[in-house]
Amino acid sequence: MTLNGKICVVTGGASGIGLAIAKHFAGAGGKVALADIDIEGAEAAADELGQDHIAVEMDVTDPDAVQRGIDKVVDTFGGVDVLVSNAGVQMVKRVEEFEYAEWNKIIAIHLGGAFLTSKAVLPHMYRQGSGTILFMGSVHSLEASALKAPYVAAKHGLLGLARTIAKEGGSKGVRTNVLCPGFVKTPLVEKQIPEQAKDLGISEEEVINEVMLGETVDKEFTTVEDVAQTALFLASFPTNALTGQSIVVSHGWRMD
Ligand code: NAD
Repeated sequence: MTLNGKICVVTGGASGIGLAIAKHFAGAGGKVALADIDIEGAEAAADELGQDHIAVEMDVTDPDAVQRGIDKVVDTFGGVDVLVSNAGVQMVKRVEEFEYAEWNKIIAIHLGGAFLTSKAVLPHMYRQGSGTILFMGSVHSLEASALKAPYVAAKHGLLGLARTIAKEGGSKGVRTNVLCPGFVKTPLVEKQIPEQAKDLGISEEEVINEVMLGETVDKEFTTVEDVAQTALFLASFPTNALTGQSIVVSHGWRMD
C-alpha cells in the first residue's frame, strides 16, 4: 500500500485517529497536510512527521477557513489527491436535553465539515481527473446509540453525502468512501466513558465491557492503527471500482 508522493489532507490530524492516519500516510510516501482547529497540536505533529508535511489551521465549520486551508495545501504542494474528513467531537446527552445550538454544532463539525472540505477539494480533483475522499464515519453511521443523537444523525448523513459524491465524481476519477470504526480509545472516547456511565446509571467498567466491547468477537477495542491501516488501504486502492462504500472496522461489533 503506497501513496507515492500523493498529497493528502487529514482534518482532525492533531489527535487520535487523524494523527495515526497522518503517520501511516506519511510512512507510505504521502505528503500530508494536518488540518486542525488545534494548530499547535497540528504543528507539533507535522514537525514530528518531517519536512515534507505541513500543519494547516482549519475550523471545518467555517467556509472561509476551509477554503483558505485547502488553498494553502494547493499553493504548497500543487494539488490535492486524498481528503480524509475526520475532525470530530462527541457529546453525550438524551435528545430532550440537547440544546439546539449543541445539535447544530455537532452536525456542523461532522457533516458540514465533510461537505465544506469536499466542496473545496473537488474542483482540484476533477481538474486532475483523479482523487479519493474518505469520510470518518462510525459504527454509528449504520446503527443507533442512545445518548448521541446529533452524532448518530451526522454519521448516518455522511453515507448520503459520500454516495452522492461517488455518483457525481465516478466518471471524473474521484472515489468516495466512508470508514466506520468501532470504539477506539482516543481522547474523544475517554471523555465519553464517565458521561455515559452517569447517564446510563452503570459503572465505567460496565460501559467499557458491555456497551463498548460487549458485541466484539474478541473483547478488543479497535485501535488507531487498525483504522489508519484501513484508511491507507482505501486511499491507495489502485482502481476506481471501490467507491460509495461503508467499510466497518470494529472487531465484529457491527457486521455487514
Ligand atoms: P480526537 O478527539 O482524538 O480527535 C479529534 C480531532 O478533531 C482533534 O484534533 C480536534 O482538535 C479536531 N477538531 C475538533 N473540532 C474541529 C473543528 N471544528 N475543526 C477542525 N478540527 C476539529 O477524536 P478521535 O476519536 O480521533 O475522532 C476522530 C474521528 O473519528 C471523529 O470524526 C470521530 O467521530 C470518529 N470516530 C471515533 C471513534 C472512537 O471510538 N474514537 C469511533 C468511530 C469514529
